[in-house]
Parts: sequence; structure tokens; C-alpha cells
Amino acid sequence: MWDIIVVGGGPTGSWTARGFAKAGMKTALLEEHSEIGIPVHCTGVVGQSMLDQFPQTKSCVWKQVNEFKIFSPEGESIILPHITAFILNRQKLDLTLAHEAEKEGVHFFLNHKVSSISQEPSQVTVQAVTPGQQTTVHQAKIVVLATGSTSNLARQSHLGEPPQYIRGVQVEVEINNIPTIELFLGSKIAPGSFAWAVPTHEKIAKTGLITLQNASLYLEKLFNSPFLKERLIRVLGKPRASRIPLGPSNSTVENRLMAVGDVAGQVKTTTGGGIYYGLIGAEAAVSMGLKSYKNGDFSPPLLKQYHFMWQKQLGFELKAGLYFRKIFEKIQDADLNYLTQLLKKKELQDVLYQHANFDRHRDLIFALSKVPDIRAVMIQLVRRNLFSSRTSFSLC
Ligand SMILES: Cc1cc2nc3c(=O)[nH]c(=O)nc-3n(C[C@H](O)[C@H](O)[C@H](O)COP(=O)(O)OP(=O)(O)OC[C@H]3O[C@@H](n4cnc5c(N)ncnc54)[C@H](O)[C@@H]3O)c2cc1C
Repeated sequence: MWDIIVVGGGPTGSWTARGFAKAGMKTALLEEHSEIGIPVHCTGVVGQSMLDQFPQTKSCVWKQVNEFKIFSPEGESIILPHITAFILNRQKLDLTLAHEAEKEGVHFFLNHKVSSISQEPSQVTVQAVTPGQQTTVHQAKIVVLATGSTSNLARQSHLGEPPQYIRGVQVEVEINNIPTIELFLGSKIAPGSFAWAVPTHEKIAKTGLITLQNASLYLEKLFNSPFLKERLIRVLGKPRASRIPLGPSNSTVENRLMAVGDVAGQVKTTTGGGIYYGLIGAEAAVSMGLKSYKNGDFSPPLLKQYHFMWQKQLGFELKAGLYFRKIFEKIQDADLNYLTQLLKKKELQDVLYQHANFDRHRDLIFALSKVPDIRAVMIQLVRRNLFSSRTSFSLC
């Protein structure tokens, strides 16, 4: 009988397990893979707040960048200065956080794929399957699901689910001349969203995209696009596709079960980045779980406070981003070309300088929506969403 079982050994799972074990709880973590940290499907870009709040992650930084380069569909580029981001070694991040958990006494069960979770009045029973098809049974007072975006355990366990998903795909490439993070826009390579090239080492970058459509198909188009074609030397390895939640789950507690990270929708709705928000969710789960445990009170009202706790920290941000993304989905290439030109104006550069924050986008969205030129585009896009009109802006 464990105090806590965490399912999933990604960053949020390990951080949650570490928090409980540090407070003296007998904690187990079950992970389906034989090794922590692989396969890697994530780019690993995070902001300053993440390193400040979780200093253990600093040792995983490969590179710091202080500006982003954005390309419009017609190939025009602008630099967004003063935005600091860190490119992490994602595998090392998972291993580092797992090591932190292990140091606090968390017992890891690798090669354990959880197949069912059943809740009884005084405990939760978890069944896992090993590669040899053996079934193991584990029991705990509280179970935390940190299974990422692809598992269906949340649905099986009557927890809520994120309202929507977007598809992401990525592969490492050998490439010339990528000094900083580059973002590419346009319907030909990432409809309603964006693609990227993120340098990790000399001549090596992670390239990928997110879109509501078939992401893998668009990756090929990205390689053949003017953005990358001339610079690409060769593709290293196989592209990895995954889905990314878009929006918070409306129920992340069910009796003695809590959900954290991607499975709870704790992911930036603008960019799909979920490492930092997942760790914030993990801290909230630990704080509320410990309170329940120490009071010996596992009644739904007390544990349910976890849901409100993390929503208070991230909910408004997620909803503002979702609204912005909804508007953005209907954007046309001509609008993007026009917006790229607008971003060159001093007035807009000033707004970016004052409000751009890698981890929190709500303030920037509000500040931009007050700029008349941008507001006009947004109103047009809202109308287009409502009436599906085909008009678009142009500079003339
Ligand atoms: C292409 C792409 C690029 C991305 N780039 C970024 C980025 O640059 N920055 C950023 O912040 N975020 C990025 N993300 C998002 C980020 O990867 C996730 O938000 C983050 O990994 C969520 O962490 P997690 O611990 O919740 O889930 P995961 O990291 O997915 O971990 C879940 C773990 O649970 C395990 N598991 C699942 N089911 C079971 C089961 N039944 N039994 C046992 N174990 C199980 C899995 O094996 C896995 O180890 C990207 C995502 C994609 C797809």
C-alpha cells in the first residue's frame, strides 16, 4: 500500500512524485517505457520563469536565445528582439527530474504500463502490464495521472479531457545558418498555426510544426519550402508526431484521482508549450494532496480544490490564448504578410518590448488588441469566423 502512486514519468509526473516523497509520503511512480526521457517528441524551449522557479532544470540548458526571427508566408522576415528563451536537452530534463524524485525516495517501476485504475472508498487500485504480459497490482491512498496527451486513462477514469487537440510533428536536421529560433507562418506549411527551426548545436536544429491538419504531411512541405530548402543538409532520424491539448480539462479531480500536465490541459494554448505549466500543475497537486493526506480527509470537496488552485494560476491565461488561437485559425496568408509589415512599426515594437513574455501571453494579447491597426485585423478575423467571409487585408 503506497501513500501516492504517480502514473507517467515525464517532467510533471516526476516533479509531482518528488514533491510528495519530499514531504515523507511513500511514493511510487509507474512508467510504461523501459527508460525515462525517451522517445523525445518535444522541442524543449522554455522561458526564464521556468528556470527561476525550478532551478534544478538549469543544468539541462543547451542554448539561450534573446531574439526570435519570424518569417511571413511571402518570405519577409522580422526580428523580435528582447525575448529570452532557453533550448533544453529534453531527455536530460526528464532524467534530471526523475533523479530528483529518486533522491527523495520515490520508487520507480519502469516497464509498467497502467491498464486500469479503480477507485474504492478507502483506496485506489492500479493495474499495470509489463512487457512479459504479467499484470501487477498496486494500491494507494491517492493516484496522480501524469500520462501526457495520448493516453486514454483519464477518460476511462471519468476525469475530464482537454476540449481539443492539435497535431505536432518534429525531427532533427543538419542545417546551415540557423543562429536563433526561427518561426515560419503560412497556409502552405502550417495552416492556422506555425512551424519552427530551433538550433540545438552547431549545424543541428529541431524542425517541426503544429497544426489542426495532418502535421506529418506539412513537414515534408516545410522542408521543400523556401524557408528551409536551401539551408537543409539532411534529415536525421524519423519524424515523431504527437498530439497537444488545446484548453484546460474541465475536471481534473475524481475522488482520489488527480490529473496533471498535458492530460489536464496544462499547456499554453497559444504555442502548445507545456513543460512549465505542467510543473506549475504538479506543485498545485502536491500542495492539495498533502493537505488532504495530513487532514486524513480525502473527501471530494477538499481534493477538488486542486482543480480551482491550478485554474486560478493558469486558467485565465489558457482561455485568453484559446480565444486568440480561435481567431488566428481563420487567418489567411495575405493577413499574415500584412501583420508582419505592421510588426516592423516602432509603435508595435514598443508594445512587444513592454509586454512580450515567453510564458504568459495574455498581457501581450490585450496590449496588441488595443493597437488600432491590429484591432482592425482582429475584428475582421472575428467577423470571418462568424460569417466565413473570404476577405483579407492588404497593405494598399
Ligand atoms: C512536437 C512537439 C513540440 C513541443 N515543444 C515544446 C516546447 O518547445 N516547449 C514546451 O514547453 N513544450 C513543448 N511541447 C509540449 C511538451 O512536450 C508537453 O507539454 C510535456 O511533455 C508534458 O509533460 P507531461 O509530463 O504532462 O507528459 P509527457 O512528457 O508526455 O509524459 C507522460 C509520460 O507518461 C507515460 N505514460 C503514458 N501512459 C502511460 C501508462 N498507461 N502507464 C504508464 N506510463 C504512461 C509516458 O510514457 C510518458 O513518459 C511539445 C510537444 C510536441 C508534440
